[in-house]
Amino acid sequence: MKLTGNTLAIDIGGTGLKMISLDPQGTPVTERTKVATPQPATPEAVLGELAGLFASHGEFERISVGFPGVVVEGVVGGAVNLDPGWAKFDLESALEARTGKPVRVCNDADVQGYGAVAGQGVELVITLGTGMGSALFLDGRLLPNLELGHHPFRKDRSYEDELGKAGLKKSGKEKWNRRLLQAIATLEHCFNYRKLYIGGGNAKKIDVELPQNVEIVPNVAGLLGGIALWR
Ligand code: BGC
Repeated sequence: MKLTGNTLAIDIGGTGLKMISLDPQGTPVTERTKVATPQPATPEAVLGELAGLFASHGEFERISVGFPGVVVEGVVGGAVNLDPGWAKFDLESALEARTGKPVRVCNDADVQGYGAVAGQGVELVITLGTGMGSALFLDGRLLPNLELGHHPFRKDRSYEDELGKAGLKKSGKEKWNRRLLQAIATLEHCFNYRKLYIGGGNAKKIDVELPQNVEIVPNVAGLLGGIALWR
């Protein structure tokens, strides 16, 4: 078998499961594939769907996964937008056992952040999708598992309640955009970041003018950042 050095990057989301293969420099070598997240999104169901996508990505030697919840040493703390069955699930070992490849798993916003940041000063990343993810970097070094999404934002509602998928549906696009600007103002005040990056599938719904130090990043960063897990 010819060794490619490729990394299979996987992004597990509340709505979709995505996959792409990256060469050793982190450049995509296959088309991104995507399937809907199974419901209920139990570990077994998600692993089953992922297995169906592997074949479209040629030979790969290792796997990176972005997971929508806290992850410590490959073990999932839980995932409010998936299924209760993920609590304490050792995703790294389970995928290694199924594929025979080394696997590294990290929080999805952390992976997205690796794919976005410039590595200078304080950089904050938020992701707007089913949930709201967050990642904080100093000179390119990550503070893992920052869970801003579940912190109080306004009234008795969290950032995720207001800015996640359900919040967007409840408020409508205009109000959601206004709330986003409010959230950005609060986050800037708190973190004094050099730059804020906004990723995730719903970043494309932003239609307000953003402050100069805020940049929208393409959702594919959630896969491209997977290469950084092996640095
Ligand atoms: C989870 C985070 C995750 C975010 C985006 C939140 O509900 O708690 O860990 O990064 O959703 O998927």
